[in-house]
Amino acid sequence: MSEPRRLYHFIGGKPTPPDSGEYFPSANPATGEVLYEAARGNHRDIAAAVEAARKAFDDSQWQELSQTRRGHLLRRLGDLIAENAEELARSESLDNGKLLREMRGQLATLPEYYHYYAGLADKIQGDVIPTSDRRVLNYTVREPLGVVGAITPWNSPLTLTGSKLAPALCAGNTVVIKPSEHTSATVLRLAELAVEAGFPPGAVNVVTGFGGEAGQPLVDHPGLAKISFTGSTATGSRIAAAAAGRFIGSTLELGGKSPNIVFEDADVANAATGVVAGIFAAAGQTCIAGSRVFAHRAVYDELLERVSERARSIRIGDPLADDTELGPLAFPDQRDKVASYVDLARSEGARVLTGGRATDGGLGGCFYEPTVLVDVHNGMRAVREEIFGPVAAIMPFDTEDEVVALANDTDYGLAAGVWTTNLARAHRMAARLDAGTVWVNTYRAMSPMSPRQGFKASGVGVEHGTETIKEYTRLKSVWINTDEGPVPDPFVMRG
Ligand code: NAD
Repeated sequence: MSEPRRLYHFIGGKPTPPDSGEYFPSANPATGEVLYEAARGNHRDIAAAVEAARKAFDDSQWQELSQTRRGHLLRRLGDLIAENAEELARSESLDNGKLLREMRGQLATLPEYYHYYAGLADKIQGDVIPTSDRRVLNYTVREPLGVVGAITPWNSPLTLTGSKLAPALCAGNTVVIKPSEHTSATVLRLAELAVEAGFPPGAVNVVTGFGGEAGQPLVDHPGLAKISFTGSTATGSRIAAAAAGRFIGSTLELGGKSPNIVFEDADVANAATGVVAGIFAAAGQTCIAGSRVFAHRAVYDELLERVSERARSIRIGDPLADDTELGPLAFPDQRDKVASYVDLARSEGARVLTGGRATDGGLGGCFYEPTVLVDVHNGMRAVREEIFGPVAAIMPFDTEDEVVALANDTDYGLAAGVWTTNLARAHRMAARLDAGTVWVNTYRAMSPMSPRQGFKASGVGVEHGTETIKEYTRLKSVWINTDEGPVPDPFVMRG
């Protein structure tokens, strides 16, 4: 058997072996086969990467680069991602077990992230402020922050990195990325493509490794001007505290336990498809998973039947095969976590209507059956805590007020789905739901143009759209006295 290939960090524009000389394996979750060994990053690797990023930031080549030109580089990077889409989709699918066709879909959209921020690069500008003193010119400038740290999870590595990297570069920052220890490969390839696109060495750096060994030193590095994190709420909370202690900003995209609500006036067939898409797509490993399903009592039985019938027919198997509908969980611990939550739900009194078992998918991998839990309520841990797997808890309700209260009774506030044909109700629900994204008669829709924000324990700050540029810039206010006469009374503040 051949040795797995080794992946190095990417620092200062080139592959860089780890300071420790150590590597860790990353396996294909569908088969258990080791795909590669990645460099095991530590604080010294992080220090080298932050230093390279700072050097690139301070370099006159970067400082003098026009915003228009920065946009060109981002456009080129988007084009290169498009040209390499198949390779990247395949690599990501092998690494985290997501369906190849889903990854192809993500890769088809990913260039738009870079193209969108390419177009925005020369539109970052300040204002002239009309203060009350006509002799003073006051204007604002949006400046880049410096070195931005980006820490990402394993479920959609390139897409979630794109949400950070594209706006960070657009705003003129340089970046150090610490990808998930479960998915190092594609982000390293992305950094190579950034150099190929023309970004100077050090503008995009990647240090691979574990959270405590490489992620924490990145957050704690005094040279970091900002941290942008996507991952679990528990880790996000620690990162937010560390960033606040050093007075740097943090953008946090965290966990969810999103409600998907089906009203009695909904098209139930469509709603059932939306419920299935919300929780079984990507084997439930998405932050926006619609894991709590509320169905009006008048359509509860019909919805249960449709969803459980579809769940039973979902084809589990090789994520690379075109007809597979459900791939593995990303690694064995994740499968065990899902299994333990279903066991917990059973012990709390839930009934498993369908699914409820781990399987190797006939491939030796770590799969879990699409699972529908009933006889559940908002008080159960399996209904309150994020499972991050293909497990739907379906509950009946009687009134709109009741379902609003149930849907909002959660620590999270990432997303929500509503299925109704009543236009007035659609708008009412959008207003009443305590979630950063509300979908009506659709689920999982997303665009780099549309801002998204997690409410409550689902996050802090905005990603996507023009809004996120504020997260990657600082605002300077400049006052110019245009009066050449004597400076007036020093003991009076001037407007
Ligand atoms: P995680 O928090 O365990 O890890 C995320 C990243 O943080 C990894 O790169 C990890 O190495 C790093 N990390 C871990 N401990 C760290 C520390 N002490 N300091 C610095 N970095 C550290 O999350 P995960 O299991 O990889 O991802 C799943 C979670 O991500 C779920 O909760 C999911 O909801 C969330 N997520 C959120 C969004 C969103 O946009 N809101 C999108 C995708 C995933």
